[in-house]
Amino acid sequence: MRGYPIVISSPSGGGKTSLVHRILGDMPKAAYSVSATTRSPRSGERNGRDYFFVSKPAFERMVRKRELAEWANVHGHYYGTPRKFLDAKIALGYFPLLDVDVQGALQLKKKYGSGVYIFLIPPTLRELSRRLRERHTDSPDVIRRRLIAAKRELQAAQKYDYVVLNDDLDAAVERVKNILESERWRAHRADSRLKALK
Ligand code: 5GP
Repeated sequence: MRGYPIVISSPSGGGKTSLVHRILGDMPKAAYSVSATTRSPRSGERNGRDYFFVSKPAFERMVRKRELAEWANVHGHYYGTPRKFLDAKIALGYFPLLDVDVQGALQLKKKYGSGVYIFLIPPTLRELSRRLRERHTDSPDVIRRRLIAAKRELQAAQKYDYVVLNDDLDAAVERVKNILESERWRAHRADSRLKALK
């Protein structure tokens, strides 16, 4: 049976990273899709695990060679999803888990219609601002720009399949797991199971 992508977006500071790790830990057939990016690594980030950190010319080469399933310029840097990993995992019955921005998710939705598209929202913009400041990874100017971007991204939330409140990590993980469990049993995914019964 083929798998399908699970795509999770949220404004930055939306608590996506912790949630993604928890889902990966609980779902043996989920596989994190490591993106390529031209931004520099933050402290603690490792090449090949968190991102493939590449130069701008290298990224542009990947775009030209159609090696990316989607790509976008986010906050002044390029980010993209390697197509090979995604397609191989889907073909093998795995569930690639993607953490991409709104532009990327909407590109994927056109190409990977069988995927599950989830948008995580913070309880309030004030809470989002607090989370960004507490991360201590971005300058006040970057935080300000991320908040402006967040307001814009929230407008695209209804193009996703699900909008999940992330007020509390455990509760949000539970909500996403419930969604993924129900998605498994959607009628349009039952083809091979039904054929086996004939
Ligand atoms: P950060 O630099 O904080 O790791 O990520 C910034 C934004 O880029 C986040 O919204 C994240 O979801 C998005 N992003 C990460 N990887 C990709 C990708 O491969 N494609 C797209 N379109 N966005 C990505």
